[in-house]
Amino acid sequence: MAKIRAVLFDMGGTLVKPEPTPKVFKKILKAHGIILPIEKISKATEKAREKLGIEKMMELGNKFWVNFNFIVLKYLGIKDYVLPLAEAIDREWWEYANISLYPEVLEVLHKLRERKMKIGIITNTFKYDLEKVLSKLNLKDFFDIETCVDVAGKAKPDKEIFNYALEKLGLQPTEAVFVGDELEIDYEGALKAGLNTFLIDRENKVDRNIKRIRNLKEILNFI
Ligand SMILES: [Mg+2]
Repeated sequence: MAKIRAVLFDMGGTLVKPEPTPKVFKKILKAHGIILPIEKISKATEKAREKLGIEKMMELGNKFWVNFNFIVLKYLGIKDYVLPLAEAIDREWWEYANISLYPEVLEVLHKLRERKMKIGIITNTFKYDLEKVLSKLNLKDFFDIETCVDVAGKAKPDKEIFNYALEKLGLQPTEAVFVGDELEIDYEGALKAGLNTFLIDRENKVDRNIKRIRNLKEILNFI
């Protein structure tokens, strides 16, 4: 194994515990005078996900989430002011979404720093959202590289988004570790790009013979 010089992380589900999308929707809708059961909202967000996959992120750019919200509202049977409401949900999202770091994250990041590792994020989000998240978590300007879909022009599992980050750091794939929580998007994508890849499986759900960790602290044993 080449000497490891960087550890790159996925964001949601890996470093950051997000609040489920339907819960955030419910709060914002309530603030706009619309009260709906969470089950109904969950079904609508699932359907919207099926209709609007990540491949559309590139095509729609920063209009992606307004489109997504619009589809959810349509599935919820909302008929009036659908577009302004979809735009308001997009604007207000991070005011309502509760996010937090997983308990071990700060300790792991600081230990990696002590070991002179470059630390980065590769996420299928837009720069605008990533910045909102990092500033909410007091991690603005902490990372050596923040790679998002609109910056790299590609989304995971495309190996080009991994290559983009590596090129910016001036590293070979074998000099980097990548950790993510989604098998197809993170694990298979990073593996194809040639990085030393780990799946973070906090709930021990994945029954496959792959490089799998339950807690980010385990990464420190591999570098
Ligand atoms: Mg994730």
